[in-house]
Amino acid sequence: LLIRLPALWLESLGEDVKIVVTTVQHALLRGLQGHYQLEEGEVLLEPTPNRDDRRALLLYEAAEGGAGALSRLIQDSSEFRAVALKALEIMHYRPDATPQEADTRCVAGCYRCLLSYYNQPDHALIDRRLPAVTEFLLRLANPKLRFMMSVNEPTPLLHGCPPPDSTPLEIDGLQVQWIWRSARVAALEDQDHTAEIKAQLTAKGIELMLLPLHDPSRSEAVARLANLLGGKLA
Ligand SMILES: [Zn+2]
Repeated sequence: LLIRLPALWLESLGEDVKIVVTTVQHALLRGLQGHYQLEEGEVLLEPTPNRDDRRALLLYEAAEGGAGALSRLIQDSSEFRAVALKALEIMHYRPDATPQEADTRCVAGCYRCLLSYYNQPDHALIDRRLPAVTEFLLRLANPKLRFMMSVNEPTPLLHGCPPPDSTPLEIDGLQVQWIWRSARVAALEDQDHTAEIKAQLTAKGIELMLLPLHDPSRSEAVARLANLLGGKLA
């Protein structure tokens, strides 16, 4: 499972990018472990393309127990909301906590929240206090802002449609994976669509096809898309 971080967001972080992304990485991993009650090491989350250039996060199962959690995330990306809330809670952010309850012993991170024996090489890059980290998790936890990042297996092919462009189109923080620039056509999961995204695509002269989650309406929409692309790319 590849968690792509919006390029514009990464750019906006400036010099802090490495610390923010590393902290988000370990926060999400903690959230996943907490939400799905996984043991350390059952799922792994690693930066990609590499530790020095952290543009996306690759999530995979390393042991049996992790597989179930991954398939739930794939089936329902809104599960990430619960994961983000869990991560915030683990990082000692509790909206209902009184000042006395709030943990003041933790500074950038501690062994009760983000630090572990396994992530020692990253300890210098973990700082839960950075506003960009909390903002990211809060946006992820907010159902209205689900397009802050896109979660995809490598772009699945749509039956009968030519492969989309290899570079996604970024609109409003959302990576539009199904984009055929030469045909000026894009497709999105129905649930990812907002009026704002549609308006921005229309302004670019790009026709948007929405794909409902379930059959038969999904197959019908894919068939219409294949037809449209076939006509435009012929
Ligand atoms: Zn802590």
